[in-house]
Amino acid sequence: MTNLPFPTPATGWAAPGAGAMLEISLGAIAANYRLLNARAGQATCAAVVKADAYGLGAHKVAPVLEQAGAKVFFVAHLEEGIRLRAHVSPTAKIFVLHGPMPGTEQEFTRHALLPVLNSMEQIAGWHAHATQTQQALPAAIQVDTGMSRFGLSEADVAILAATPALLEGIDTRLVMSHLACADTPDNPANAMQRDRLRAMAALLPAAPLALSASSGIFLGPDYHFDLVRPGAALYGLAPNADAPNPLHPTVRLQARIVQRRTIGAGNGVGYGLTWRASGPKRIATLGIGYADGFLRQGANNGGCAWLDSYRLPILGRISMDSTTIDVSDVPESVLDQITHVDMIGPHRSVDDVAHSAGTIGYEVLTALGSRFHRAYLPQVA
Ligand SMILES: *Cc1c(COP(=O)(O)O)cnc(C)c1O
Repeated sequence: MTNLPFPTPATGWAAPGAGAMLEISLGAIAANYRLLNARAGQATCAAVVKADAYGLGAHKVAPVLEQAGAKVFFVAHLEEGIRLRAHVSPTAKIFVLHGPMPGTEQEFTRHALLPVLNSMEQIAGWHAHATQTQQALPAAIQVDTGMSRFGLSEADVAILAATPALLEGIDTRLVMSHLACADTPDNPANAMQRDRLRAMAALLPAAPLALSASSGIFLGPDYHFDLVRPGAALYGLAPNADAPNPLHPTVRLQARIVQRRTIGAGNGVGYGLTWRASGPKRIATLGIGYADGFLRQGANNGGCAWLDSYRLPILGRISMDSTTIDVSDVPESVLDQITHVDMIGPHRSVDDVAHSAGTIGYEVLTALGSRFHRAYLPQVA
């Protein structure tokens, strides 16, 4: 798969006052949606836009996903749902994963949000709200098939099966669960959760079923059921660390070179002087640091920036507002012509940055800060 191009502004681009610039490709996000939708076959492909669309800006991302064909959205919290409502069409369905906290039920109906009911308490609250308003109210029911995080237990489901009145007034639009190990296809927990979803759903009102997020889609049709809920893959993260990533990268992060200097052998760099030059080095200080969500641990395990085909290792510790890199391999004449280097770009994916920081791409993306300049690349026709 060819990557959608990120045009490279050569010098003096639009953000001279910012230390770094994040470009977000809306075209790449739309292309990822279409790819996932195709992989999901007959299943409806929803879009997960919680955490401000994984840090990329739900107000920009959700309308593009809707244009690409998404009709169902998921967020985590009620307040996220209320904010999202203004950015998608009135017919778009918005599910709120954490469901209604006691007393918030009428907020769901007011903003046309669909709760995911995770517990007997939430079911009782939604049932009471339906009784009070004398109408059937739509909702999803989540069952815990093995992750022990959200959803009804097998005992809860047995109670509901024996006492259908508890679900009166609840219009069950979806029965869902979530996979714990979908990024490891050989893990036997996957098939166990799949089979448990079928068994638990058989005891509940008939409704479409949903199990898979991004990685689950790539486990194959057996895991698609009626609806899939990708998040990370929409934003270009690899669904499976051991297989080539079929998705388009969606972000490019470029940091400004604020200052360059030459240091001699034995000189240390940064807090704690944890890195020392073995010989003369040309180094550059960048206007990006951990306060920008460029994780401090990202200096480890091959942490680097890139300039075209030059790999520029991070030296010493990442500071709050700055990061120092080794530019000794780059001719001065080249450095004189440029203002920025890539922290995330053609040679370094979000997943690579995560690897250096000892974490996952999800955390790198959702940590990306608001201090640097953001630019949205429009969809290409
Ligand atoms: C976050 C989340 C998703 C999306 O997961 P990705 O791995 O980002 O695709 C789907 N379903 C539930 C219940 C979630 O919490």
